Amino acid sequence: MGDGAQDGRPTNFQKPCLHNYAPLNKMTTPSREWDYAPAPEATDHFRIRGRYDLFIGGRFVEPRSGRYRRTINPANEKVLSRVAEAAEGDVDRAVRAARRAYERIWSRMPARERAKYIYRIARLIQERSRELAVIETMNGGKPIRESRDVDVPLAAAHFFYYAGWADKLKFAVPARGVRPLGVAAQVIPWNFPLLMAAWKLAPALACGNTCVLKPAETTPLTAMHLAQIIQEADLPPGVVNIVTGDGRTGAALARHPSVDKVAFTGSTEVGKLIQRMLAGTGKRLTLELGGKAAHIICDDAPLDQAMEGVIAGIYSNQGHVCCAGSRLFVQEGIYPLVIRKLRDRIRTLRVGDPLDKNTDVGAINSRAQLERIEELVASGVSEGARLYRQPCRLPRKGFWFPPSFFTGVSSTHRIAQEEIFGPVLSIMTFRSPEEAIERANNTPYGLSAGVWTEKGARIFKIASKVRAGVIWANTYNKFDPSSPFGGYKESGFGREGGVAGLLPYLLTTQVDRL
Ligand code: NDP
Repeated sequence: MGDGAQDGRPTNFQKPCLHNYAPLNKMTTPSREWDYAPAPEATDHFRIRGRYDLFIGGRFVEPRSGRYRRTINPANEKVLSRVAEAAEGDVDRAVRAARRAYERIWSRMPARERAKYIYRIARLIQERSRELAVIETMNGGKPIRESRDVDVPLAAAHFFYYAGWADKLKFAVPARGVRPLGVAAQVIPWNFPLLMAAWKLAPALACGNTCVLKPAETTPLTAMHLAQIIQEADLPPGVVNIVTGDGRTGAALARHPSVDKVAFTGSTEVGKLIQRMLAGTGKRLTLELGGKAAHIICDDAPLDQAMEGVIAGIYSNQGHVCCAGSRLFVQEGIYPLVIRKLRDRIRTLRVGDPLDKNTDVGAINSRAQLERIEELVASGVSEGARLYRQPCRLPRKGFWFPPSFFTGVSSTHRIAQEEIFGPVLSIMTFRSPEEAIERANNTPYGLSAGVWTEKGARIFKIASKVRAGVIWANTYNKFDPSSPFGGYKESGFGREGGVAGLLPYLLTTQVDRL
């Protein structure tokens, strides 16, 4: 059945042709019944430095190349700072510092002492939470409400959680001995810069490893402020090292011969490159890659709550979320109602200044990402899907894309198969739970999924058959440091969070015997 045909109001959808695809940065139709007063978060309580060096061996050091790269605010394209570009020699210095710290200090330190440092980092993140949230928002474009209420508190929670594990590791792997691996190389993306740093560093440190972290090129600033926190926490020099740079820095780090473990979060494409590079080296690897989650709404679901789940699933952080609920499957009987409710709801989302506390949807992280989103959206239109874009005024400067959704989507369309990584939802229908399961699994990815229904038995049935690492029932995008997170298929392997998140950073006696 054609999805859009069931919607009683097709005239409000943009027609499937490119010239109806309104250009960005232009006002379309007036959308607000009233205006909110601006509520900008203050930026005068901290200082962004003019230049950030590499953090190696407990000190901030200049890159050997002497090269620095500008980092901008994607909401207005203003330069925020210049950040060092680490070349191969700098990566080598960082790995050597990590190796020294591992052999001489960190692996020998009693676990309860390690825990105290990790607790201290958690406390300092809490103390500097306002500063970290504002910098995260300025550098990445996400709404301040999200960095303030989600990213920063969750980052602190990860350090608290894993600090608690440091002296209890033998209980994580019952009846086996455990020891750290050595030096962990950790490459993180731009969508949750501080939180991803916490997901990587906290379990590695708790297990007794030392780390070299490579933040993403577009969002290095909170990692550098975390480096200041690590210095302030008096962590022994070299236990954590942070090298900024582009993909070449990440590649140099992953292939360094003195690295024992590589943990990567990012695109499937780069994940595969790293996997090929590491084949036969004996290095441990975990990959957290992309996703194309199925978000399933059954006809008995509480629809108003489900709409909030859909909104949180695809429009939070502008859809720059690996587990975003980017494919919505709606049971046929409720399809017209769901489309109407969704359209009404996204018209109320406020798009604009990420530092404004009223903002729901902020700026796209970079020009490159905006172009990627536009290219995929154009492909959806040209393949025949119908696009609805929230009518809103977009700022002239910066990178923006309005909350949007597609109806009339077929599962062969690129917008149903590829990760858009933007605020764009692809909506399809299903008749029975069996069909929902089959369509949900029709993807190369397997990271996350969501299901909305009042029937507990249906939740269990769907959750047990959808191949995804994380499945939310009657909620979406909820995170906790004690819950494992990770994927199947092209979404990667290994888990982060919870007890499972310790295992990739430990050698157990069973592994030794293999
Ligand atoms: P990448 O995979 O290129 O970037 C992730 C991290 O890997 C960054 O730190 C990047 O550095 C680094 N990197 C890039 N190339 C290499 C390499 N050869 N070896 C080691 N490290 C490398 O993602 P993109 O930023 O290009 O985003 C592309 C797409 O990937 C997005 O549109 C989205 O679909 C997906 N993505 C998924 C994420 C997830 O959470 N699963 C997160 C980010 C993106 P640098 O930033 O300097 O290039």
